[in-house]
Amino acid sequence: MDLALEVKGLKKAYKSITAVDSVSFDVRPGEIVGLLGPNGAGKTTTISMILGVLEPSEGSININGRDVISHRSEALMHTNFNAVYSHAPGNLTVFQNLYIFGLLYNAPNLSERIDELIKEFDLEIFRDTKCGALSSGEQTRVGLAKAMINKPALLLLDEPTASLDPSTAQIIRKKIRDYADRGEGGVLWTSHNMHEVEDVCDRILFLSHGKIVLEGNPRTLPQEHGKKNLEELFIAIAREPIDS
Ligand code: ATP
Repeated sequence: MDLALEVKGLKKAYKSITAVDSVSFDVRPGEIVGLLGPNGAGKTTTISMILGVLEPSEGSININGRDVISHRSEALMHTNFNAVYSHAPGNLTVFQNLYIFGLLYNAPNLSERIDELIKEFDLEIFRDTKCGALSSGEQTRVGLAKAMINKPALLLLDEPTASLDPSTAQIIRKKIRDYADRGEGGVLWTSHNMHEVEDVCDRILFLSHGKIVLEGNPRTLPQEHGKKNLEELFIAIAREPIDS
């Protein structure tokens, strides 16, 4: 089975800064990988390159066996994305948004898929409501439904629960975990919430100054480094990066 994502020697250099510096990692089908790191570490730059919206200075990106640079559209048909800052167009209803994105991704059995997602993300009462009228938490649920419309082999989530209340966030984490467990895809997840990362991620990659400085199981890494929990480990690494 192809890897959901394979990144090799990825680099993005600007004039005065190397935002991402020779990063290599993979995400397996069914796996949730947390991409962590302090502000400015290079997480969004990495995700933007994987999404094909930012051109790497060096390196390769493969999504579900397809090279993002040489087979961009094919690779991107197998991925999808949601971020706290990327809202669905506000002048379209929930149904219209899901329908348009479903067409863009050529999702099979679109009407049934939309019904399934509307039910899964508890959006029935908002089906014909314009997205611009929804609360930020409701918009996040629409964004996640949109992100799953094509059952992507690679699901990229940039702080997916940042605008959700703790109860909704827990429900949403479970839905994303279920998506991975059903083997529908692998997930790359950024978050600043260490409790959430411990709860949901199988593996974490810790970025600092554009490099991966630590990788492992979020539930065992803290003890391996003499720390009480992931938050303590995060703070220690963010302040004094470990050499990889
Ligand atoms: P945060 O957690 O704050 O969202 P991040 O880990 O996502 O941070 P990036 O947005 O990837 O960090 O930025 C990595 C570094 O690259 C930062 O120092 C940023 O200032 C720099 N950077 C990003 N885009 C550009 C650009 N277009 N030109 C120059 N530097 C840039």
